[in-house]
Order: sequence, then structure tokens, then C-alpha cells
Amino acid sequence: MIEETNRVGYSRRLHPFKLLLCPNKKMLERSIHLARSLFPDVYDERKKYRTFHFSFAWRSRQIISIGQNYPDNTNAKAMRFAKRFGNRKQMEYPYLHAEVDMLSKLWGRYYIDSKMKVVVLRLNSKGELKNSKPCVGCSNIFSALGVGKIWYSTNTGSIARL
Ligand SMILES: [Zn+2]
Repeated sequence: MIEETNRVGYSRRLHPFKLLLCPNKKMLERSIHLARSLFPDVYDERKKYRTFHFSFAWRSRQIISIGQNYPDNTNAKAMRFAKRFGNRKQMEYPYLHAEVDMLSKLWGRYYIDSKMKVVVLRLNSKGELKNSKPCVGCSNIFSALGVGKIWYSTNTGSIARL
């Protein structure tokens, strides 16, 4: 079956949030749009990587933080978060995930709680949405902080809720 893909790139046939999560549709579309607009710059800088992760934190109708992954170097922020939240795998491999980059920009400056909504997106080098389900470590951090409203892109180009 041919999937109908709309302007912002997720499948009409597959996206259940259209009906179930109407209030968040705009937020998801704006996140996708923003990820695409950020994409060319990062792509120039990091040609050797094929995919790009972005994480957006929303409060009401505003983006309060944007994070990006940095897969090429281990990172002190990644290590701090890994230790603070007891994520063993990240202590061993402290590469900065988009979610932790996003949270680290809010840390100490913004009260992080369940009102925050998070959208995590991964784009391949063609700008297509790919699976960006948060890893166990990032999921652990979100649940410790009480952040439960999390959406991510899937390999079929749709958006799923964690
Ligand atoms: Zn992660």
C-alpha cells in the first residue's frame, strides 16, 4: 500500500495523533518543521553522520529548549547526567544525546516538571523522519523528572507517543 505523506513528512494513514491527540498536532508539526530548518546547517558541519537527532522541549505553545546529539566526542554534560541519574551505559559511553543536551540547557534555570512536553525527532540525510525512540537512559531521566509527555518519530515516518 502506498502511504500518503503530507507536507511535514509524516504519513496521514499512520498518524493516530491526528484523532487522538489533536491539541498536540500543531506542536508536532512545528517541531518537524524546525528540525528540517535546522538540518542543513548541522549537515554541513557533520557530513560524515547520516542521521540527526533533535529534541524539543515545549511549555504551553512555546519551545523552551532545543537539543541536538553529538555522537563524535564524549562529553562532560553527558557524564554529569549519567552519574546524577545512575545511567550505567551512559557512564561508560558519555556521548551527548539530544534529550540530555535539551535538558542541560534548562538545568538550574527552569523548573522541569510534568507540564513540559518533549518531541524527539531523527532525520536521515534526506531529511526523512526515522526512529528516535528515547533510549533507556534518557527515558530513565525523563521519568525521574516527572516528564511523561514525550513524542518521537518512527521509521514509518509517523509520530508515536512514549
Ligand atoms: Zn538517549
